[in-house]
Amino acid sequence: MWQEWSVQTHLMENKYKIKQNKTAPMLEDKIRAAFDEVSQRHTRPRRLIADRLVELAMSGENFTIDELWQEMRELDPHLGRATVYRSVEKLVAMGLLDRVDFADGTHLYRVCGENHHHHLTCTQCHMVVEVDVCLPEDQLNAIGHKTHFDIEGHSLTLFGRCESCRVQ
Ligand SMILES: [Zn+2]
Ligand SMILES: [Zn+2]
Ligand SMILES: [Zn+2]
Repeated sequence: MWQEWSVQTHLMENKYKIKQNKTAPMLEDKIRAAFDEVSQRHTRPRRLIADRLVELAMSGENFTIDELWQEMRELDPHLGRATVYRSVEKLVAMGLLDRVDFADGTHLYRVCGENHHHHLTCTQCHMVVEVDVCLPEDQLNAIGHKTHFDIEGHSLTLFGRCESCRVQ
């Protein structure tokens, strides 16, 4: 079950992605429900991760797997990085968290708005901006038609340098 969810779904917008209202209490419910779905056993590590993810989601903070893992290890030294990784990727697959990839190959996770969007990232300071642009649907359809693909999703990330990095 966990393994199925750990595929790199960020590369492809999941066509089953549920459109949700990411208001704080609902988001908390969904994060907890996601963990319940994965395991009926409410193990302590899972509960700790769920608690921290809810906090991060509420605060709108960006975070990396390693940051989250280091924090969690202070509470539970036996917690494996893979468990943390799978928990986070599960939430990405469910559309509760976004994975943001940077030009340098690193990435982080964050809670974004509920509308379809892409990310504009700063190559220097890693600032993330949600942008309301997309590929034209008729062109996507034309590509699918021409290549005999059933196109299920796409990813698009814009890179650049933000204003404050440019003035330095
Ligand atoms: Zn986003
Ligand atoms: Zn910048
Ligand atoms: Zn798009």
